[in-house]
Amino acid sequence: MNLIRVLIIALLVWLAYRAIRGMLSKPRPGKARRPESLSTDMVRCQHCGIHIPKHEALPRGEHYYCSPEHRDLDQG
Ligand SMILES: [Zn+2]
Repeated sequence: MNLIRVLIIALLVWLAYRAIRGMLSKPRPGKARRPESLSTDMVRCQHCGIHIPKHEALPRGEHYYCSPEHRDLDQG
């Protein structure tokens, strides 16, 4: 009877070991992927509608513009 208990415990330990290994070795989707939206946040020129990176855009109020000309043209 002792042998059966030992075998059952060994089986449970093996199953737990397999489950833990499976969880650890499973590749996590999205971890290797770089969040592109954070590095290049695109905004739209309020005047001509062209899309430009946010760090290159000229903000005025809630809107963005591709150039000082378009920013000035959209005034008033
Ligand atoms: Zn523009």
